[in-house]
Amino acid sequence: MRAIYFEEFNGPLTIVEFPIPTPDKGAVTIKVEATGLCRSDWHAWVGHDTDIVLPHVPGHELAGVISAIGEGVRSFAVGDRVTVPFVNGCGRCEFCKSGNAQVCPTQTQPGFTHWGSFAEYVEIKSADFNLIALPDAISFETAAGLGCRFATSFRGLTSRAKVQPGEWVAVFGCGGVGLSAVMIAKALGAKVIAVDINDAALEKAREIGADFTVNSGNSKGNHLSSNSTQSNISSIPAMTESAKKIVVTNSEGKASEMGTDLVAAIAMVTGTRNGVDVAVDALGSEMTATASIKSLRRLGRHLQLGLLPSPSGQTPLPMGRAIAYELDLLGSHGMAAVDYPEMLAMIASGKLKPDLLVEHVIDLEAGLIALQGLATSKSAGVTIIKP
Ligand SMILES: [Zn+2]
Ligand SMILES: [Zn+2]
Repeated sequence: MRAIYFEEFNGPLTIVEFPIPTPDKGAVTIKVEATGLCRSDWHAWVGHDTDIVLPHVPGHELAGVISAIGEGVRSFAVGDRVTVPFVNGCGRCEFCKSGNAQVCPTQTQPGFTHWGSFAEYVEIKSADFNLIALPDAISFETAAGLGCRFATSFRGLTSRAKVQPGEWVAVFGCGGVGLSAVMIAKALGAKVIAVDINDAALEKAREIGADFTVNSGNSKGNHLSSNSTQSNISSIPAMTESAKKIVVTNSEGKASEMGTDLVAAIAMVTGTRNGVDVAVDALGSEMTATASIKSLRRLGRHLQLGLLPSPSGQTPLPMGRAIAYELDLLGSHGMAAVDYPEMLAMIASGKLKPDLLVEHVIDLEAGLIALQGLATSKSAGVTIIKP
């Protein structure tokens, strides 16, 4: 089988031929029909994930057909169309047994704990517990986008932040996870404000239902982009540059300037509510997390979806505000297979349309180039690789 492969972090990416993996006891091998290109794959390649063992094959959002089953697999057979969450639980611990495989202490993750799906075949462990049968109505391309970004947003907004109809939700960063959050929050009946500095991403956010989009430009102290990277965030001269105006656009496309303070602009959009009920950091940086927390009204809920890699492993957050306003700070880490039926039902009924997020479908060669360029890519929406 062919796979995207690297031997050192931030080193050369190549496509190499390997034997098809033989599934271990309880595992299956899946012929990968589609696999999503996610920011986490880029983090894995550049070396932000310290537990990856080299050499490595990345890729963790996938859908395909079972090509071989290991000893003891009972619920699935060769030929079944399946997808899988990016976090795979052991199926035996107290967390897995209570329906919380997404925090299993001995979890496996394709593309992180073992070789992933940027390959023609991938092995999935504890298959009976983790695989999800894919309804015929859902294409491999759509399903591949679900396992990480869409499912993480879904669980974050429904089970963690518990978004209610009529609430205001602000989403910071409109990459794959942020656009998913916009679509899901809208389907839950919320009023949604999407924030980014990439106009193409904001246009996409309006297309899928954002009530307002905010181009934060280089507003003072709040610079963010769905494509900024950990290394360039620290060098952004946002505080010293002359502040640019913040542009707020409504769902009809009418744009207006709203000062230079992002948090104040969001408060203004919400009118007398004076802040949002739920704020989502869908990018993952000190700046976006801080802007998210500060845009909340009293008793609001901050949802951290973007990973927060930093050299120290710590991220300073405005805890003074969290105390004074009695804010809830919520983490969210994927979604267990057991929670998929509710999401799949909303997709089957047309309430959620994750296929609208798929922007590019490319082959393995183009995938290698796209992975390398992910940090500086200006494209909006989700890229799917067909190995
Ligand atoms: Zn477990
Ligand atoms: Zn991902």
